[in-house]
Amino acid sequence: MGFDLSSRLAARRAAHLYRQRPLLESPQDVQLTVDGQPLLAFCSNDYLGLANHPQVAEAMIEGVRRWGCGGGASHLVVGHSGAHHQLEEALAELTGRPRALLMSSGYMANMGAITALVGQGDTVLQDRLNHASLLDAGLLSGARFSRYLHNDPHSLEQRLDKASGNTLVVTDGVFSMDGDLARLPELCATARRHGAWVMVDDAHGFGCLGPRGAGLVEHHGLGLEDVPVLVGTLGKAFGTAGAFIAGSEELIETLIQFARPYIYTTSQPPAVAWATLRSLQLLRDEGWRREHLAALIRRFRAGVGALGLQLMDSPTPIQPLMIGDSERALQLSAGLRRRGIMITAIRPPTVPQGTARLRVTLSASHSEADVDRLLEALQQALAELPENDG
Ligand code: PMP
Repeated sequence: MGFDLSSRLAARRAAHLYRQRPLLESPQDVQLTVDGQPLLAFCSNDYLGLANHPQVAEAMIEGVRRWGCGGGASHLVVGHSGAHHQLEEALAELTGRPRALLMSSGYMANMGAITALVGQGDTVLQDRLNHASLLDAGLLSGARFSRYLHNDPHSLEQRLDKASGNTLVVTDGVFSMDGDLARLPELCATARRHGAWVMVDDAHGFGCLGPRGAGLVEHHGLGLEDVPVLVGTLGKAFGTAGAFIAGSEELIETLIQFARPYIYTTSQPPAVAWATLRSLQLLRDEGWRREHLAALIRRFRAGVGALGLQLMDSPTPIQPLMIGDSERALQLSAGLRRRGIMITAIRPPTVPQGTARLRVTLSASHSEADVDRLLEALQQALAELPENDG
C-alpha cells in the first residue's frame, strides 16, 4: 500500500526519460568541470558570458557589503531595498516602459502576472509551445484556457472569436526549446482587433535581441499598446537571477496589490540586484558580446548545414539539433561527452513526444575554435550512432 514511487521511477527510466542532475564543480562558464571531468559546454543560458564575469562578481560582493546577504522580508514588509529599486528603474528605462517590477524568478513572474490579471470568467490563450511556467499559470488562474497552434495568428484568431471576459494572449518571445521567434507584429495586431491584451515572456530574447538588447519587443519596436505585459528574466543573458514584469504604472500597481507570488515571498538578495545593475552596464558598454555571438551563430549554422543535419528556423543562440527518439538523443549526448563536450539531451515532457533533441546554446564566451571543435565532435559522434530504425 501507499505511494508506489518505485514503479513510477522505473517506468520513467525504461522510457529513457529519467532525468539526472550533472554536478558542476566549477563556476558557470563555457569551460566546466562536471562530475570531475573537464568539459566544453554548449547548453547553458548564459548567452552573453556574464554569469562568471569578474565585474559582475565584484558587484555582487560589493552588494553584500553594502546591502547585506538576505532580502530579509517580502517587498511589502521591509524587503524592498534601494538595490531592488534602482534595478527596477534601470529595467523600465531599458525596456522603454513606464515601470518594471522585480520578481525573484521567471517562473514566479509568469505565475504572478497571469494569475493577477485573469480569473474565472476570463480567457487565457497561449501558444502551445509556451514555457511550462506560462502553461502552469494559465491552468492555475481559473480562466478559460486554450492553446493555439504554434506561432499561428489564424489559429489564435479562431480562439479569440470564442473568448469571453478579459482575454490575455500569452507567448514566449524566443521559444525556449526551438529558438524561433514569435510572430509578434501579427499576433499583437490580431489580439488588438479583439480587444485582448498580449503578454510576452522574452526570457531568451532579453539581452540578446534588439538594438539595445531589450529583446524581441524592442526589435519590432512594439509599444505598450501592442505588448502591455512584458516579462524578462535575469538568470540567462544577464548572468544573475530573478526576473521582471514591465508595463504601465497601473499594471505594476495592480501586480503589487494582487500578484500572490510577488506579495508572499522574500525579496531576492539585494546583492543579486546590485550585480544585475552591473550586467546592464556591461550590456551597454560591451556591444561586442552580441556581435561576436551573432558571428558564432552564423558559423555554427553553416557548419551544421555542411554536416547534413537539420536545423530549426532559429536566428538566436538556441540552436537545437532535432533527434526525435529519446534514446538516440541520450546516445548522441554521451558520444559528445566522451569527446569532452557537454550538451544535455532534452526529452519529453519538456518537449513534445518524438521531438527529443540536443539543445545547443551558444555564448559570447565561446570562441570560433570552440564552435569548430563542437562541429568536429558532432560529426564523429553522429557517425558512431546505431542506424536509425525508427
Ligand atoms: N520563461 C522561459 C521562456 C524560460 O525558459 C524560463 C527558464 N527556463 C523561465 C521563464 C523561468 O525563468 P526562471 O529560471 O528565472 O525561473
